[in-house]
Amino acid sequence: MDEGVKRIVMIGIVVVGFPLAGIIFWTTRGSNRNQEIPADAMQLVKCNNPACGASYEVSMREYDAFQREHFNPLASSAAPMTCTKCGKASVYKAFKCNKCGKVSLLGSVPNDFTDRCPDCKFSQIEADRKAAQGGAGQ
Ligand SMILES: [Zn+2]
Ligand SMILES: [Zn+2]
Repeated sequence: MDEGVKRIVMIGIVVVGFPLAGIIFWTTRGSNRNQEIPADAMQLVKCNNPACGASYEVSMREYDAFQREHFNPLASSAAPMTCTKCGKASVYKAFKCNKCGKVSLLGSVPNDFTDRCPDCKFSQIEADRKAAQGGAGQ
């Protein structure tokens, strides 16, 4: 094989190979996502409408599919789902406080742990971190 032919072959591998690798990566990534979420996994959500405030669980797969469908690169927060109670597009991811049991939106307290309870100020993430640090220090 002379140098000219080698070059053409190399260029062929680069041009054809890279997009192909990208496609393989993309498709396997897409199928993995659905496998990662168990069919019975639930996501707690809460309505941000002060007049409503409903909280309930939705299928995590459903939530994930909704977010992918309504993904907006310009938005700083997740796309709001439509509330099953009041019908407004104001439903976001929520969590249940492990201390007082109150359901709040994730990131209720700005610049703090996402699971900081705005009511009793408890954060499971913070508690876990403190426990981990305490364990390492002893
Ligand atoms: Zn609502
Ligand atoms: Zn709390």
